Amino acid sequence: MSENTSAPDSQTAPASTPQARRAAVVINPMKAPAGDFKADFHRLCETEGWAEPLWLETTAEDTGLGQARQALGAGVDVVIAAGGDGTVRCVAEVLAGTGTPMGLVPLGTGNLLARNLGIDITDPLAASRGVLNGTESSVDVVKAVLDHSEDEQLFLVMAGLGYDAAIMANTVDELKDRVGWLAYVEAGIRHLPGKPVKAEISLDGQPAVTRRMRSVMVGNCGKIMGGVEIFPDARVDDGILDVVILAPAGKLGWLNVLAGVFGRKDSRNASVEYFTGKSAEITLDQEQEFQLDGDHLGKAKHLKVTVEPGALALRMAAG
Ligand SMILES: [Mg+2]
Repeated sequence: MSENTSAPDSQTAPASTPQARRAAVVINPMKAPAGDFKADFHRLCETEGWAEPLWLETTAEDTGLGQARQALGAGVDVVIAAGGDGTVRCVAEVLAGTGTPMGLVPLGTGNLLARNLGIDITDPLAASRGVLNGTESSVDVVKAVLDHSEDEQLFLVMAGLGYDAAIMANTVDELKDRVGWLAYVEAGIRHLPGKPVKAEISLDGQPAVTRRMRSVMVGNCGKIMGGVEIFPDARVDDGILDVVILAPAGKLGWLNVLAGVFGRKDSRNASVEYFTGKSAEITLDQEQEFQLDGDHLGKAKHLKVTVEPGALALRMAAG
């Protein structure tokens, strides 16, 4: 490479000098790892030739939306969500549709999206390096509207309405593996309260099907927790939502659910029913617990979900 400094009018140095890229970190300080992650991350940026990062901590009042907007306004090259799935949802909600990529540094124990994407959930600095040196791709996000609200909420992994959603939200952090999930479902067999709920489920505006069920889940990714693939065919970038209805009949019904979820496809039965579509509308005859990406958000009777294909750019380690 040669530099042309002879003629002012042909001087292109300012335009061609690559400006150091800059990352913003939106971090949940309650989940910050042991040691001085902030100092480590600053050092990493220096080592990797990135500018000094913008460091933004979430608060109880603003769990990430405001910080992500501030990062976007600062024109950074990537906004890293450093926290749990709640932080990820907030950052993704702001970045979706903007073209500015999100990076993930999983902290805490849930990390549903990171697990689905194969991102290092054990070493925040390794995950950070993966973001800085990574490549960009895009994933689908899902917009959810509860009970005909004006507000849309965004999720990346799954939404759940019903009995499972209630317990899942409370126990997801403790569920480390498949055995843990089995234990949870086994508890469900023994402590199943109430009656099944009547649900009308319409996909892509088609006439609704009616089911009596315990739980309905809408998935954007396959793994919902602890590596369990509730939606074995789900892909995060296919523009398709995967819907599953769990409808155990009586106490032994949960065993059929287990067989359906963990068994091979040909052993699935009426207790576990799958649908796909680009949008879904679910109407229950009574309100049920509701969760988004493992966060319990109260109760709802009506849920409308719409996939936004490829709306979110992600920056992560290749492969
Ligand atoms: Mg999909």
